[in-house]
Order: sequence, then structure tokens, then C-alpha cells
Amino acid sequence: MANWKSNVREVVPYTPGEQPKTKVIKLNTNENPYPPSPLVGKAISNIELDSLRKYPDPGCQSLISALAKYHGFDEENVFVGVGSDDVLAMSFLTFFNSEKPIFFPDITYSFYDVWASLFRIPFETKALDEEFKIIKSDYDMPCGGIVIPNPNAPTGIAEPVSFFEDIVKAHPECVVIIDEAYVDFGSESAMDLVRKYDNVLVVRTFSKSRAMAGNRIGYAIGSKQLIKYLSDCKFSFNSYTMDTITLQAGVASIEDDSYFKEKLDAVISTREWTKVQLKKLGFTFPDSKSNFIFAKHESMEASFIFEELKKRGIYVRYFSKPQRISNYLRISIGTDEEMQVFIDELKMILKGV
Ligand SMILES: *Cc1c(COP(=O)(O)O)cnc(C)c1O
Repeated sequence: MANWKSNVREVVPYTPGEQPKTKVIKLNTNENPYPPSPLVGKAISNIELDSLRKYPDPGCQSLISALAKYHGFDEENVFVGVGSDDVLAMSFLTFFNSEKPIFFPDITYSFYDVWASLFRIPFETKALDEEFKIIKSDYDMPCGGIVIPNPNAPTGIAEPVSFFEDIVKAHPECVVIIDEAYVDFGSESAMDLVRKYDNVLVVRTFSKSRAMAGNRIGYAIGSKQLIKYLSDCKFSFNSYTMDTITLQAGVASIEDDSYFKEKLDAVISTREWTKVQLKKLGFTFPDSKSNFIFAKHESMEASFIFEELKKRGIYVRYFSKPQRISNYLRISIGTDEEMQVFIDELKMILKGV
């Protein structure tokens, strides 16, 4: 009998949202409905084929420099990676190395428990309250680390900086990671806390607000000490993670701030319009500061609406687990036209036609 299986690192992987091959209205993975800045396209087409012969810059200097300047930090305060999933995974590996459990909300980004299991990090989830809000006092006791998205996913609820400052201040014994994947859609950033506390790491992504999920760019801002530890782990694992093309595309995105802001405003105003429409149709939802709405209908089951929408070529996200959220749909914000079609189809489904 083969017993090699007892030596395997067995894990239950994260399940990403579907990427259908056919043309559908895709409101299921919080992608941006608009393309990235035209400057990104230009940067990519200007890349000389010959430059791909060589390894990319392992220090990712051009992108780190652009991000440091953009946020008003030194380059030593910035770490970049292949999407924020890469940055977060590397941060878990680097900073969550305690016997004590790390804490995160019970309803949150469903990759956290996967990384914790993969790296054998003990963890404890903290239940959100009735209204899906994070209960700050639950995070009071000493622990191995804390990770919280702000706004939280999939609820879309944002907390002010003061909320996170209280947590960071109370935990000099560990690193506190704030996952700001959706912060650009209208909530307060905790980045300024990095100037005051050396144990806070703010993680960002180009996938949502910068419409570059296909490029895979994420980054972290933290104290120079944290970034040094993070880089040391990264360079002990894989030196060349970010490719030559992506590095230039990322710099170009940062350089076109007016396009960035214009498209953010468009998504935010479509979100606000969608909230009004959903309310009229009998949906309730926590007030979202992200590019998605987490909604439940007063009488029709979420799983039924999900399947009906899918039949009509509209994909939203449905989580059957945990039980507490099994009657909710997470609806990403598309263009005005897409959301109009979505609302029209919803009306038909609710009418039973
Ligand atoms: C989308 C998302 C990420 C990962 O984004 P990347 O595409 O890997 O940059 C991380 N955290 C949260 C909360 C997200 O929603």
C-alpha cells in the first residue's frame, strides 16, 4: 500500500468566481467594467521584443518608485507582487509565524483561511454582528496577527481609520494587515497609520479600481522594517515574479490619474443608481463603499435569482456557505447599460416571467 499520501500537504483551495468563455454580463468577480487607461495600452505596445530576452528587474524599481511617489512614501516603504493575493500570501508567510492564532472576521475574503491552512497558521474567526459589522472589541486579546479588509468583502461595509488605529495601537505584539482591495471606491485609507505605527501593513491591488486584474499587480505599504522582512521572504521563494510588460503597464496606470479618477466616479455613480433600483425591487443590503452590492430579496431566494440570472446571461456571485449569507447575492457594478439590463431582467424574474 502506498503511504506517500501521509506526507502530502493537502489543502482545500480557494474557489475563484467563474470566468465564462461566452459573452455574458459579468457581475461576479468585482472586475472593473471599463478598460485600463489608454496609456497602459501604449506602454504595452511600446515594449521592445528584444527586452523580453532578459529577466525582469527583480527589484521592480520603476513600479515601486511610481507607487512611492504617488502615495508620498519612500521606496523602502513599498512592496509589489503578482496581485494582492501574492502580496497577502507572502505577508501571511512572513508575519504570521506565532503559536497564537491570527484573527479575521467569519465573513470575509475567503482566501484568508486557505492561506492560514496552507501555511499551518492557527486562526480564529470573529463573528460579524447582526448587521454584518465587525465588532472591534472581539479583537482585543493578544494574538498572532490580524487581517481585515476595508471595505470588508463581500459585505462592502467600510470602517473609518480610527477603527483600525484602535486595533493597531492595541496590538504592538503582532502585525495588523488591512486589505484595501476596494478602498478607492469611496472609503478612508489607513495608509497614514504606516507613518505612526511600524506594525501595520496596508495592501492594495490594481485588479479592481485600476481595471488591471489580467495583469496581476498588488502592493503593500508598510514601515521599512516590515517591507524588508517581506522582501527577504519573497527573495527566498521566487526572485522574478513580476514580468517586464506588467511592470511598465503598472507605471503607466499610476501616471494617468485623471483617467483613474474619472472611471472611479463612473463606477461610484452607477453603484448609487443601482442601490436605488434594488431598493425599489425589495432588496436590502448593507451600505456598500465598494464596487459591489451584497443584497438579499425580501421574498425570493438568492439561489433561485442566481440561477435565473445565469440562464439570462448575467453572472453574479452566490455563496452557499456559510449559512448566514446563503440568501445573499454579491453583485459587481458594471457599466450603466449593463446594470440597466440587469435591473430589467431582475424585474422579470421577480414577476415570474
Ligand atoms: C480581489 C481581492 C483580492 C485579490 O486581488 P488580486 O487580484 O490578487 O490583486 C484581495 N483581497 C480582497 C478582499 C479582494 O476582494
